[in-house]
Amino acid sequence: MASIIEEIRNCRKCGLWKSRRNPVPGDGSLNSTVVFVGEAPGYWEDVKGKPFVGAAGRLLDEVLRGIGLSREDVYITNILKCRPPGNRDPRPEEVRVCTPYLDRQLEVIKPKFIVTLGRHSAIYILSKIGVEVSGITRVRGKIYEAELWGQRVKIIPTFHPAAALYNVGLREYIVRDMRLLRNEMDRLS
Ligand code: URA
Repeated sequence: MASIIEEIRNCRKCGLWKSRRNPVPGDGSLNSTVVFVGEAPGYWEDVKGKPFVGAAGRLLDEVLRGIGLSREDVYITNILKCRPPGNRDPRPEEVRVCTPYLDRQLEVIKPKFIVTLGRHSAIYILSKIGVEVSGITRVRGKIYEAELWGQRVKIIPTFHPAAALYNVGLREYIVRDMRLLRNEMDRLS
């Protein structure tokens, strides 16, 4: 993981390195059975170099706490490691050149569960098993079983916590999806 992080720090594969303050490789436990995959760093993540440290991160912390987890127990990263200016959507070319880092991180951690946060993350992760995402509401709340790195992994898509800051009704669904994760984790142990 250290060498992946070093490569991310020196990365110039797309133009985002020019406007970023800090790359945001990811954070948490390398022994975690769960990896959360968000979209891209926002303002505070870019300032601090850590994922989900702004308002969306506080909401994520709360829902994690609700299922007895803290961010030290899990690993949190994003599809893009650098902030797109003005928090615009990731561009296909940026996703194409940046996601090999995510793939390698997942291969190092070999999680049993991947929770995708938001549409961009769901689209990328589910594309690995040939599932096309026509809308996040269609895929969230379901468990997709995959074989990745020669190992079984369950993919649980949910809404992006930032979306729940604007539409408070979505929070309830994120909480439900986290309970689904908790149940699956308990079945494993
Ligand atoms: N939103 C994301 O998708 N990722 C972060 O790290 C912060 C906000």
